[in-house]
Amino acid sequence: MTQEIKPIRKKIEATGLMNKYMAEYFHELDDASKSRDRKIAWCTSVGPAELLHSFGFLVYYPENHGAMLGATRIATDLIPYANAIGYSPDICSYLTSDIGSYLTNNTPLTKAYGIKSVPKPDVLVFNTNQCRDVQDWMAWYAYEFKVPLIGVNTPRTPTEVNDVIIESVAKQIEGMAVELEEISGNKFDPNKLKAVMALSKECTELWKEVLSLAATKPSPISFFDGTIHMGPAVVLRGTQHAVDYYEVLLTELKERVANKVGAIEDEKYRIYWEGMPIWGRLRQHSDLFAGLNACVLASTYCNSWIFSDFDESDPFTSMAKAYTELFIVRSDAAKEEYIKKMIKAFSIDGIIYHDAKTCPNNSNCRYGMPRRIETETGVPSITINGDLNDLRMISDEQNKTNIEAFIEQIEENR
Ligand code: SF4
Repeated sequence: MTQEIKPIRKKIEATGLMNKYMAEYFHELDDASKSRDRKIAWCTSVGPAELLHSFGFLVYYPENHGAMLGATRIATDLIPYANAIGYSPDICSYLTSDIGSYLTNNTPLTKAYGIKSVPKPDVLVFNTNQCRDVQDWMAWYAYEFKVPLIGVNTPRTPTEVNDVIIESVAKQIEGMAVELEEISGNKFDPNKLKAVMALSKECTELWKEVLSLAATKPSPISFFDGTIHMGPAVVLRGTQHAVDYYEVLLTELKERVANKVGAIEDEKYRIYWEGMPIWGRLRQHSDLFAGLNACVLASTYCNSWIFSDFDESDPFTSMAKAYTELFIVRSDAAKEEYIKKMIKAFSIDGIIYHDAKTCPNNSNCRYGMPRRIETETGVPSITINGDLNDLRMISDEQNKTNIEAFIEQIEENR
């Protein structure tokens, strides 16, 4: 029998610096929103943010706000407001909770930073590489704020991302520059784009190195840490702060590795998390796994903000490649190859698939994948039902029982 012990998780000291940079980021947006002295673009989280930075826009990410709504556990109460205006409870709960937040003027930015409301956009930019929901989400705000909506329509579920796809996406991104010149009032400057791409690439490589340290035993970082510390890779990429932050974080984690300090006490089981986090249960899940000596240490989710193909000498094509080769965009065949590599690289003992009710796009257990991967690798898995933001979709007791039984199964199979 596995024995549940009091969880001991190690605090990451760099967190203070991250909080400082995140606070500065939100205050800069808030100031610009009030004074209107800088243009603001809203962008989907794996959208062409680099292009927007090159025009001088401050970039705000509604999905990051959605995650904050989830993590602060206010999302569930806000979803019905979006349902009431016709947005189904079955669609993305980032979208519904975010619109609910706007309709009720209730944002976690107030408690965290004293900011009353989200910044007003001058333009909304989407990329459908992750799902269609982001386009509809931005469309609602475009109507609300009466500002332009532009975007990239990426072909979804390719196994191979071939040149035809890359060229089509690259042309769409490049084509946006014309509208962005008009909206920003600035001429497109290829040198500025190159500089932003170089910073984004540096951020990406550092973030990749941070996550790759989890391959060591014990892992110095958990998935739950990763969901917090990926913040700068999502919202600050393309800026010096993101690079500075990950250099500091990396140094701290390398020190942990050198001293064999794990993210949890006495790591015995190494777990892979597949799918979205359950934002309102991060702490609870982190404690649950740590209490079972199980370190959830790798995930597809945190790796989604690694854009290794960025190349400042060929910005549009490399951006198209990086934003289209992402896991979430691909076919199950490509995803399975990726997960199998991750199992090996991180010495994984078991996989948790999160079937997120309102995000079919990032729930990869619905078309037989867990069984296929288990048959090929011998690594067991379970599926837990839940959601990213809608806590009504979660049975905590059921999930706890299933996870405990799963760890026991791993132990018995040894
Ligand atoms: S990928 Fe899922 S969680 Fe993200 S915006 Fe799309 S539907 Fe929402």
